[in-house]
Amino acid sequence: MIEILDLHKSFGQHTVLKGINVKLEHGKVLVIIGPSGSGKTTLLRCFNLLEVPDRGTIELGGMKLSFTDAKEISQHNVVALRKKTGMVFQSYNLFPHMTTLGNVMEGQITVQKRSKEDARKRAMELLEKVGLADKSDSYPHQLSGGQQQRVAIARAMAVEPEVLLFDEPTSALDPELVGEVLKVMKQLAAEGMTMVIVTHEMAFAADVADKIILMEDGLILEEGTPEEVLKHPKSTRARQFLNRLS
Ligand code: ATP
Repeated sequence: MIEILDLHKSFGQHTVLKGINVKLEHGKVLVIIGPSGSGKTTLLRCFNLLEVPDRGTIELGGMKLSFTDAKEISQHNVVALRKKTGMVFQSYNLFPHMTTLGNVMEGQITVQKRSKEDARKRAMELLEKVGLADKSDSYPHQLSGGQQQRVAIARAMAVEPEVLLFDEPTSALDPELVGEVLKVMKQLAAEGMTMVIVTHEMAFAADVADKIILMEDGLILEEGTPEEVLKHPKSTRARQFLNRLS
């Protein structure tokens, strides 16, 4: 289970997260939506401490970390929490000098200390899963955006994280390539992978989410099932946001 309590984060004078509470059961999919600048990416990046919260608590995969303004978080805890997460970025962030196979093997060898042979075996299984086994020797620049993103998903999966984090995984893609990435994500959700996804793809959110949170100005404005949040939002502000998208 993942539990986030009273999370606060500021950049200088600008308070971006103003007290966020989120609970997600193992094997479930949480989708975070909301207007630009509402704090979605910052919240997602707090899950793996790419942003360190100023205040609040994060519980993930049996680890519980508390943050206070005064206390520095130990590097040991940062590394330990990060090992429990896999992240997929908007811009893929593959290692350009490594093949597809090398990209999916790398974390297994450096972080998990797996043998090259085991890492290669698992990498090939994952490339098979995302439909790219035949591209194992290709370099990122030889792949389409959709293919690169599928490699990035395989790479994130390779270290067996407790949770996969996706930051607008399809927003850099040409429209015709979005479907192939969403299909892989949907398949992972169906297999019971715990996932947290920031996206503007509302139809996908409605389809795949167990829970949606709609953020505005650093706070959660609405929270519930896709039906509750997307079809029957309680607040006028949420209705306005959703109407603008349709
Ligand atoms: P979008 O949908 O446009 O990606 P978002 O809801 O994901 O927006 P965030 O990226 O979390 O929003 O940004 C929230 C606010 O925090 C923005 O005003 C942004 O400029 C600010 N912000 C984010 N990261 C930093 C940073 N590293 N330093 C300073 N300000 C930041």
